[in-house]
Amino acid sequence: MCIVIATSRMSSKIEIVSTVEELRRKISSWRKKGFSVGLVPTMGALHDGHFSLVKKSINTTDKTITTLFVNPKQFGANEDLTIYPRDEVGDVAALDAKGVHLVFAPSLKEMYSADFVTEISVPGIGDTMEGVFRPGFFTGVATVVAKLLIQTLPDRAFFGEKDLQQLYVIKRMVTDLNIPVEIVGCPTIRESDGLALSSRNIYLSASERTNAASLYKVLNEISHGILNGDHINESVAEAKSKLLNSGFFKVDYLTVCGTKNFMELNFLKEPAYVLGAAWIGETRLIDNIKIC
Ligand code: AMP
Repeated sequence: MCIVIATSRMSSKIEIVSTVEELRRKISSWRKKGFSVGLVPTMGALHDGHFSLVKKSINTTDKTITTLFVNPKQFGANEDLTIYPRDEVGDVAALDAKGVHLVFAPSLKEMYSADFVTEISVPGIGDTMEGVFRPGFFTGVATVVAKLLIQTLPDRAFFGEKDLQQLYVIKRMVTDLNIPVEIVGCPTIRESDGLALSSRNIYLSASERTNAASLYKVLNEISHGILNGDHINESVAEAKSKLLNSGFFKVDYLTVCGTKNFMELNFLKEPAYVLGAAWIGETRLIDNIKIC
């Protein structure tokens, strides 16, 4: 069933579809009129980070689709699937106000039939960092993103650099599978103290929220240290202990990777990123910055 929502803004009219058939019908009607299509895949609980992707899509394509789907295949057994924040009504109203044309909000059954077995894995890039600490995560991401891209066949799809390793995995997959879509990376949107916006930030208590900005701070310290000639391992070790002294109780990784093939670097020999994942209270935060 296709739902059209007319809101108080006179010109505003967002459509919501929940099946692949309706989605394709709508896109096909756009294609017949010569419109280009942008896709912004999300798991909902939208914030300004997501909206920055939406804005880029609206500015660079004729029609923008946002997907709202909490993908169970990218959550581990002990992760937060059941409590992951959901607010479809609020999300749709916000997307409408931003000028999104279509929301695709499929059911679990629509995305994964009872006999669904196919998996897409991206070894190499997907095996380090998040791949180590969240086994199966990138296979879940690659599988759902491949499905969304094939269902939609947009001209461009927009992803955040906030999840940098994910962006590299998706680019690799799209190249390997010859999926005819341009993957566009978008800069990380941050709070004023540097904390990267994330749907999971609502899990943070007031004191955790204050301390959470330390992750961004230590990434910057590593970057400055390395650029000033410090050894990568020493900079990382120092940053790790700072993080553990500022409210984080566990550091999964702090890693410096080259921008070319995303391999871990021990010496700065090419443009690089520093990436980190660490636990504060019950919440795991990830972030990254470019070393420059
Ligand atoms: P999610 O709903 O967490 O799956 O995220 C959907 C998309 O939004 C992904 O491409 C994320 O990388 C992107 N995203 C999430 N947080 C931010 C942020 N703070 N800045 C920019 N993009 C983001």
